[in-house]
Amino acid sequence: ISTMNIEKIRADFPILSRKVNGHPLVYFDNAATSQTPTAVIDAIVDYYQNYNANIHRGVHTLSQEATEAYEEARETIRAHFNAQKKEEIIFTAGTTHGINLIANGFASEIKKGDEVIVSALEHHSNIVPWQMLCEKTGAKLRVIPMTQEGELDMKAFHDLLSENTKLVFVNHVSNALGTINPIEEIIHAAHQKNAVVLIDGAQAAPHIQADVQQLDVDFYVVSAHKMCGPTGVGMLYGKEKWLNKLPPYQGGGEMINEVTFEKTTYAGLPHKFEAGTPNICGGIAFGKAIDYLHEIGFENIAAYEHELLTYATEKLMEIEGMKIFGTSAKKTAVISFNIEGLHPYDIGTIVDKLGIAVRTGHHCAQPIMDYYKIPGTVRASFSFYNTKEEIDSFVKAVKRAKIMLS
Ligand code: PMP
Repeated sequence: ISTMNIEKIRADFPILSRKVNGHPLVYFDNAATSQTPTAVIDAIVDYYQNYNANIHRGVHTLSQEATEAYEEARETIRAHFNAQKKEEIIFTAGTTHGINLIANGFASEIKKGDEVIVSALEHHSNIVPWQMLCEKTGAKLRVIPMTQEGELDMKAFHDLLSENTKLVFVNHVSNALGTINPIEEIIHAAHQKNAVVLIDGAQAAPHIQADVQQLDVDFYVVSAHKMCGPTGVGMLYGKEKWLNKLPPYQGGGEMINEVTFEKTTYAGLPHKFEAGTPNICGGIAFGKAIDYLHEIGFENIAAYEHELLTYATEKLMEIEGMKIFGTSAKKTAVISFNIEGLHPYDIGTIVDKLGIAVRTGHHCAQPIMDYYKIPGTVRASFSFYNTKEEIDSFVKAVKRAKIMLS
């Protein structure tokens, strides 16, 4: 790809030049967390070296500088996701936190007889909070089934929708299989029934720039650490009307207007949902990570990663006994696979000895593994800083593991 200088990009990530078990690191666990470029690391160091202070409440200079940088990051995030207003961008600790915040908020809106739809392709963090909500309220959890290809059964989804449907929760991209779900169709159909839609964008965010206004989605959640940012910070986008309606998730400092023992009034958006001292440095670094991704360009990222996906799929399929789970034509650069007769954990352990990082197991998506009747898979997930040479090393390592284990 002529528009991407991979060597230059790789030089932005110090970790990529380290060795693991005596071999150059090949990092193929990007769906679990992405690596961090120097621009983001520098922003973190700069914060702690030069303007570490608590925000929104100090009159002193450091506090003002930190507040300004944090709010600037919020604006960067707003612009990236094209939210109409900055107040609709809530800083969270990550995707899991964002989902729980909304699940908790809807406890007072949902009642017995209502229905909540999730999908068979969800991460546990987009299943368990809704199960908890259903237990609390007596609402019924319905599940959009999946197909052999690892896609959502959309006919079944349309059949599940009814006047009782109140909430629909689906991920934009499946972390276990890489499938890109037809969220436009899901949002549109759910809205026809006046249901509210939350999209878990954790896996989509590093590859696809979501436009929340164009999608007309009610809530969209992401984690910074999947987007070249730090761990422990994320974003919840919510339509203003919903964020105003839902109760706060946590009580504490920052989220109040006035406190007396008789009655407390809550602050306006976004502070109503941001109790306590936030991950200030993390938020600022999140903004820098988004700036960095835009320097590379989301279209370039998608095109190059697709090239890596196609190349790796072809090479892996040459291995006898190879079975890839998730064969949708619409997927991000994730390959989840097993080799007949071998345990995924054993493959993962051997390739690690050769410096290659992949994920093995159920990937926090046990219902998908149950569907395929397998305990787990080996998952290789690529990013724009990976190369075809690394894929060659990986395929060689898998072949070696196969010989050793057979
Ligand atoms: N949803 C999906 C689709 C994910 O891939 C992940 C992270 N693996 C999560 C939710 C949870 O994100 P976090 O652990 O950052 O809260």
